[in-house]
Amino acid sequence: MIVMKFGGSSVANREQITKVLGIVRDRLDRRPVVVSSAHKGITDALIDAARTAASGFEPGEAVIERQRTVAGELGCAPELLMPLYSDIRDLLRGIRLVGELSPRSLDHISSFGERMSVRCIADYFTRQGLAAQAFDAWDLGLHTDDNYGRARPVAEYAERMKAAFAEKVPPGVVPIVTGFVGKSARGVITTLGRNGSDLSATLVGAAIGADEVQIWSDTDGVMSADPSIVKAAKSIPTMRFDEAAELAFFGSRVLHPATLLPAIGANISVRVLNTNRPGHPGTVIESAPEPKSSPVTSIAYKEGQTVLVITEPRMFEQVGFLARFFEVLARHQVVVDLVATSEVSVSITTHDREALERSLPDLAPLGRVEVHGGKTILAVVGRHIQHTKGVGAKVLEAMSRADVNIQMHTFGMSSNNISLVIDDDAVGRAVATLHAALFED
Ligand code: ASP
Ligand code: MG
Repeated sequence: MIVMKFGGSSVANREQITKVLGIVRDRLDRRPVVVSSAHKGITDALIDAARTAASGFEPGEAVIERQRTVAGELGCAPELLMPLYSDIRDLLRGIRLVGELSPRSLDHISSFGERMSVRCIADYFTRQGLAAQAFDAWDLGLHTDDNYGRARPVAEYAERMKAAFAEKVPPGVVPIVTGFVGKSARGVITTLGRNGSDLSATLVGAAIGADEVQIWSDTDGVMSADPSIVKAAKSIPTMRFDEAAELAFFGSRVLHPATLLPAIGANISVRVLNTNRPGHPGTVIESAPEPKSSPVTSIAYKEGQTVLVITEPRMFEQVGFLARFFEVLARHQVVVDLVATSEVSVSITTHDREALERSLPDLAPLGRVEVHGGKTILAVVGRHIQHTKGVGAKVLEAMSRADVNIQMHTFGMSSNNISLVIDDDAVGRAVATLHAALFED
């Protein structure tokens, strides 16, 4: 069995869904399970409608109209989605009446995108002669905790899912399963977080013991840099799990950061492929790919980060300063990404500015605190960086050539990435120059 996950742009409209049909049809001998995202833009439109409703305005029917257009292109009967449209209307009315959008309601409204897309896709496939059936992931055992907006499966999910697949999916029928959503033990709808369908795919793959999980997107696999910035970006044929995890975390747009954990646990390779060029081999991510010569695998970046610097001249003779500092951050749930320390100051980065602001009053007694927003973490990732001389020099030299000021810099023992903090508005030239220095010589 293989799991094939299609992202929003792969199922955006009839033209794309027809490509998906061809791709799935060509792989029927591998017994595919399809996991699908919502059609491109639908999740955003649902969230917008909910926010409009919560602020007391009438959200209108824009999102339903959008979904209706795709369903119409596919020739689905109008009744197919009627019950879901009416749930959406009810829910939006409720949100508007209470004038509030809780994380729980936000998950509920966001869940409709995938629930609608899988129904349309299964219906269309079946009418095109490929027997398919839509499933909401919770009906196949995807039970989660109740951390709305970032739910994770409960430990028993895999066993339940395996049993549910055996019991509910008829032989010879391709299941089309919702990405992104699950249900808590109390039966409340949850989501795994934005872009969570990738994670749904590896969770399904691990539970059913798939041979491979395929993530179908719109680039030729994982690229050496963001192709929208770097024209010369290349597809990377193989990567190790740890490199890919690092890249996903640092904002490479291809994979949701938590995607690889289930695949690592079950030792299932993940292949990233292009729906628009199905013949391209893409990128295989596995535990031990072929050795390769380049020390650097890829460049990734994450914008909109905040740096906090705490300076305390007496720090160098204090014991436990870092412990106290991190205790305050933990108490306010500040997620720390990078850390750099010197004798008298500590710098950290976080993506959660709100949590950071909450921690400031408690940090003040520890030293002088500065906060700088609008920063980007730029990460150069590759498992051979550690053992290769001169990569750091190339990176720093490229930054100087691009006239980019480096504000923080981290590289650790047994680390597979060099991370720099720069201004958001320097990202374009930093990535382009770096790519030229590391990949295009
Ligand atoms: N539809 C969800 C989102 O837009 C999940 C996904 O596409 O993976 O975030
Ligand atoms: Mg995605």
